Amino acid sequence: MSEFIKTYRQIKDHQSSNYRGSLKDIYLNTIGPSKIRTEKLPKTSLLFIVFHSLFQDQKEHFKKLLLEIQNEYTFISYSEATERLHSGNIDKRYACISADDGFKNFMDASYLFDELGISGMVFINSHLIGETNYDLISKHCAERLLSPPIEFLTWNEIEDLRKRGHEIGNHGWKHKKLTQLSASEIEEEVCVGKEEIEHKIGPISHYAYTYGRAEFINKKAMDIIFKSGHETIGSAIRGQHLNKLDRGTLIKRELIEPSYPLKHMRYFVEKHRN
Ligand SMILES: [Zn+2]
Repeated sequence: MSEFIKTYRQIKDHQSSNYRGSLKDIYLNTIGPSKIRTEKLPKTSLLFIVFHSLFQDQKEHFKKLLLEIQNEYTFISYSEATERLHSGNIDKRYACISADDGFKNFMDASYLFDELGISGMVFINSHLIGETNYDLISKHCAERLLSPPIEFLTWNEIEDLRKRGHEIGNHGWKHKKLTQLSASEIEEEVCVGKEEIEHKIGPISHYAYTYGRAEFINKKAMDIIFKSGHETIGSAIRGQHLNKLDRGTLIKRELIEPSYPLKHMRYFVEKHRN
């Protein structure tokens, strides 16, 4: 069988049920509020959202998630959000949304963003863009993304995204774990990715490192990313930015996958750890 995953149902069938996950789900379903309570939110903040995949059977639900967030936050582009973050010009609640890994299903997300007037950002691994070899994609998804095979964007689609006002960022050449690499290997992963993207579409400014947690980045990698011409580095460390952020530091992004029940999303948005 060589079919790419198109639905969230297929993903769930692929994963064995996880006890820790289900306890967390029960907890969040219990304490998650039935609407976002405006009084629980900071008056001014920058909420960077990150997700990975939007499957066909999640589109309707994802729209509900985004509409609720849009009630409380003004969506701006990733570039505008990072500019505001570095200048400290955070005069109300802003949100921006980015997706990591460059899956083809970002196209569906982008059509939803168009409908809602949102500019999205997708962080890609240039090595995978336009790849059609099923075995290679399967291996990449299994080893690097711990997922069943999901199709990747093509360069034509990336061009189309750009034309419609969405942004492209660097997620590394081959989705390697930077903390496991030597300085020269980090340089290859970061710079080849940037060069290949720029060769196709022109200058880019933003990087999001793989695996996102604090333990998967270090000073050596950050120095190389900034020195190679990236202006920002996005993490997947939870939180919202309430204050100006110094250049040269990590951006927090709140993980809100399309699979999240509304109550989970509300819990994380209200928690807004700084
Ligand atoms: Zn990734």
